[in-house]
Amino acid sequence: MRFSSKLSKLPPYLFSEIDRAKREAKAKGKDVIDLGIGDPDQPTPDFIIKSLCEAVKDPSNHRYAMDQGSPGLRNEIANWYRRKFGVELNPEDEILALIGSKEGIAHLPFAVNNSGEINLVPNPGYPPYRNASILAGAEVFEMPLLEDNGFLPDLKAVPSSVLNKAKIIYLNYPNNPTSATATYEFFQEVLEFAEKYDLIVAQDMAYSEIVYDGYRAVSILEVDKEKRRSIEFHSLSKTYNMTGWRIGWVCGNKEVIGALAKFKSNIDSGIFQVIQDAGITALRDGDDYIRTMQAIYKTRRNVFVEGLRSIGFDVDYPKATFYIWMKVSGSSIEFAKQALEKADIVCTPGVGFGKYGEGYVRFALTLNPDRLKEAVERLKRLR
Ligand SMILES: *Cc1c(COP(=O)(O)O)cnc(C)c1O
Repeated sequence: MRFSSKLSKLPPYLFSEIDRAKREAKAKGKDVIDLGIGDPDQPTPDFIIKSLCEAVKDPSNHRYAMDQGSPGLRNEIANWYRRKFGVELNPEDEILALIGSKEGIAHLPFAVNNSGEINLVPNPGYPPYRNASILAGAEVFEMPLLEDNGFLPDLKAVPSSVLNKAKIIYLNYPNNPTSATATYEFFQEVLEFAEKYDLIVAQDMAYSEIVYDGYRAVSILEVDKEKRRSIEFHSLSKTYNMTGWRIGWVCGNKEVIGALAKFKSNIDSGIFQVIQDAGITALRDGDDYIRTMQAIYKTRRNVFVEGLRSIGFDVDYPKATFYIWMKVSGSSIEFAKQALEKADIVCTPGVGFGKYGEGYVRFALTLNPDRLKEAVERLKRLR
């Protein structure tokens, strides 16, 4: 059989060897400490589950949902945005519910790109920006995120031959995998750049609430006040431990939102209304829970970073996200292999997020402090 040639343009899956070694270690009964995947270990909070259980009893919730999200959900998203960022959104045409933010991130290029256009994507970065662009028939220019530049893209380094054909610039702050954050001034610079070259700014804010030490993440819509060209993706996945539920949204420029909504209306039929109702509860009543969650990750961050430093690794305390992005000497795949072989620890090699991720590994803080201490103890074997 022959399949779409676009599939063969996607990069090979880099982690197959590490996945195999991980399965083998677990099968042998080894006590594996898995800090590989960015999937919260904590359960979805009870008040959200209760809301789901109530909502599922209502037969009107069993029917097809409204594609763009229920009016109740879109109103609650508007309230949430006002409360968090002081940004006003029109629920009618500036908010679109998504079946998880990955879904919208990946469908965006199908809705807006024409062939020959180039999307600017971060490297290292969350793979869908790049891979969905390629699947949609666009080309990509990978913007290096380098430590020297605070893991922000150097906009001046994008060649003018690229800029002539550029369409979307994908950004993701607070950032996965580097845990870097962006300032208001950086977003101002992005908007000037986007204005000059007529780009759509697609900023992924999945980690907006996973912040520490009084840091508050800035929304691109605080800067692009008129919503001239920016959209922002949000997710309930990390904020409320709801990764399996599949609910998120995109908001901002209504032309772009409209194009994505039109595309999606031909592909899916919205989010199960029961989950939308539980999502309303999460967004409306979840602020206390967010503080609890932040305290949990902060303790883990402190224990793990302190531990890593005490055994001589070069690592900073991130201001946001639940990732530790750590510099290693030599190949990141080799480090991850050694960690698994010598210490039964799973981490993600940076090169899996793109070639500029080489020389780093990512740990996800998805285990309790005792396990993180144990991980540090075992990592001594790699020193
Ligand atoms: C986890 C994550 C998401 C969220 O994806 P969902 O589809 O909403 O679960 C989006 N962007 C980044 C960078 C992520 O790490």
